[in-house]
Amino acid sequence: MPTTPHHIVEVAIPLPLEGSFHYLVPSRLSPLAVPGTRVLVPFGRRKVTGYLLGDAPAAGGELKEVLEVLDEAPLFTADELAFYRWIAGYYLHPLGEVIKMALPAGINLVSRYRCEKAEDGTPVLKEFLAGGKSVRTERFYSRIPDTEAKPRGKGVEILEFLQFLAEGGEGGKDGEISAAALRARFGHCTPQLRRLVELGAARCIDREVYRDPFRAETFDADSPLALNADQAAAFCRIGAAIGTGAFSPFLLHGVTGSGKTEVYLQSIAVALAAGRSALVLVPEIALTPQLVGRFKRRFDCGIAVLHSGLSDGERYDEWRRIRRGEAVIVIGARSALFAPLTRIGVIVVDEEHEGSYKQSEGVRYNSRDLALVRGKLASAVVVLGSATPLVTSYYAAQNGRLGYLHLPNRVRELPMPETVMLDARGQRRKTFLQPLIEAIEANLEVGGQTLLFLNRRGFATYLVCEACGHVLRCPNCAVTLTYHRGRGRHVCHYCDYSIPAPAVCPACKGSEITLLGLGTERVEEEVKELFPQARVSRMDRDTTRGKGGHARVLKALEDGSVDILIGTQMIAKGHDFPGVTLVGVISADASLNLPDFRSSERTFQLVTQVMGRAGRGDKPGRVLVQTLAPEHYALTHAVAHDYEGFYAEEIAFREDVGYPPFTHLASLTFSGIAAAQAENSAEEAVSLLRKIKGDCGLRVEILGPVSAPLGKVRGRFRWQILLKGRDRSELHRILFHFRGGFSHPSAVRLVIDVDPVEML
Ligand code: ADP
Ligand code: ZN
Repeated sequence: MPTTPHHIVEVAIPLPLEGSFHYLVPSRLSPLAVPGTRVLVPFGRRKVTGYLLGDAPAAGGELKEVLEVLDEAPLFTADELAFYRWIAGYYLHPLGEVIKMALPAGINLVSRYRCEKAEDGTPVLKEFLAGGKSVRTERFYSRIPDTEAKPRGKGVEILEFLQFLAEGGEGGKDGEISAAALRARFGHCTPQLRRLVELGAARCIDREVYRDPFRAETFDADSPLALNADQAAAFCRIGAAIGTGAFSPFLLHGVTGSGKTEVYLQSIAVALAAGRSALVLVPEIALTPQLVGRFKRRFDCGIAVLHSGLSDGERYDEWRRIRRGEAVIVIGARSALFAPLTRIGVIVVDEEHEGSYKQSEGVRYNSRDLALVRGKLASAVVVLGSATPLVTSYYAAQNGRLGYLHLPNRVRELPMPETVMLDARGQRRKTFLQPLIEAIEANLEVGGQTLLFLNRRGFATYLVCEACGHVLRCPNCAVTLTYHRGRGRHVCHYCDYSIPAPAVCPACKGSEITLLGLGTERVEEEVKELFPQARVSRMDRDTTRGKGGHARVLKALEDGSVDILIGTQMIAKGHDFPGVTLVGVISADASLNLPDFRSSERTFQLVTQVMGRAGRGDKPGRVLVQTLAPEHYALTHAVAHDYEGFYAEEIAFREDVGYPPFTHLASLTFSGIAAAQAENSAEEAVSLLRKIKGDCGLRVEILGPVSAPLGKVRGRFRWQILLKGRDRSELHRILFHFRGGFSHPSAVRLVIDVDPVEML
């Protein structure tokens, strides 16, 4: 084999820089420097960790050398690299940052300095690599057979016990037992163990162990349910598609309780039987603890659960289990999309309409969309499930780009809850209209549970002075402060700025200050006043901080120790609470009035979901919706359980104004401490965009710049440009040329968001 004198490699660096970089590999490192490993390389005056992408052809010019190869084995495969490249191209983001985001945080090394003493005693700074690798090991002991050692005292007992294990006693795995278990049995025994090893009677070995957050729980096995006709039809099509081994995407449209999860479970069983793996994405695991249990009961194969509550170490453990093929089902939130599964057979995206699949900083990817891309690269089946599909998904199904599977009825033939709209117009200051009060009372009397939904936490929306009209605002963000009675402060929900509640108006020193608007805290207080006999609880971001916060509140509802639960959208998500027989929507208007073209869609989804919490048990449910907009189509169709009706109106609106699915969007947000600087940059950007559009003859609409709906956040003024393109590739071309040709002052930040979800 001819030897290559120069082994040159292409390296991606996780910094906001375009392109990749070439380095020379010294011969001592050459065998280790394989694609998919991390390498330490000089970069400017720093040393940084980069990702080795592959060999590069020899080129002119001096190259710097790779300093170190940081992994014994590749962290990502060629297939995964292809996926990362796709993401970097689509979201216009540096490849190195995409890779860094895709790999678990636990492995990233950082360069640090440490103060050490030189030989003459003077302190010097030395660079070292702070190991990010957080593998946990545990020491195990076992008997070495046929040795005649004579320990003493406690050592005799321990040796006898190890002998007993070696002969298969206590089902000891390979006759091994951990040091921790020995200490639990014999008390402090480290010297005795050390002595046994010295005597050659026992051996010890350090083994890698996993931190398993679910280890303590055991699950009783269950078996597949006999499917009803609709479920069977959906399952047949998914199963057949898995059998073909080709990419095929489906929309599974089924009301809550229609048995979608059972279809997922049985489809996954088909994939596993075909020797393939499965990925299940859910919006937020903490909100759906019951789901993981259903998977653990059904499958006895390895299941990895990835969620935001894991420490970096726990996450890294799960990642390694998946990489080694020890877990073949992965359940997780947004970032689980990057789980290192091989041979994926099916990807499920549950609640596909959820906005939380979109990452809102860094690489602004959308897991729901990327599930389709990963599924295509892996020749897998992708199932997007929802009771309220995105109108873009439903449109794709109507046009044959997604297979359409429909579960129109609840499994247990329970009637949909009876729903009533309550017109709150002209009664502004009332938190509860009379029919809602009566319904809660009646429900309390029969021992039913009630959910009250309001999508705003805190006590009051804002403080206003009735004398001079002064409103308390955040000095850093263009929003009003929300009063939190529990903390006694007015708080900004964007930057957490807060001030103590004032006794007089800060502007005119008058005392006629009023709290306007409703928050969950205030609803809770009023409920307690109205129904002193009821057991009341609240669930929002303030009451569920910390690990296990959600679980605590949900458990109380489940075991019946709560009569009325008040909450934000957190209570809307997929829980199954048989005891809930009444749902009250306190106000459906907050989300309707957001300056975003998706506000109707979001409101429809939210109200439908909250309604779906009623009557999941044996008793039928009731839903009351209070609103100032009782004629709005998002609400009339939600209350009528009429998705198709809503879709028809919404799709007509989207076509009229040229929004997705009829166009593709990208937003450019410029922000700066100085308002003029951000605005000027945005103006210059528009000129360049117009020029590119003209030069290339692209059909892309350029809107703006305008001051963003949230004109100021954390002290930075924000200006926005919106690009609309009928053709996705033309939109990408203009962005690509723009990024290559545009520069802005370093004081200005530019964020390019492809397929933005949040338009504020
Ligand atoms: P979804 O995911 O659409 O909300 P689930 O799969 O959770 O629906 O089903 C709702 C309830 O009905 C669950 O308790 C589930 O165990 C039960 N269920 C689902 N399919 C069947 C079936 N074919 N036969 C009996 N019960 C079923
Ligand atoms: Zn603020």
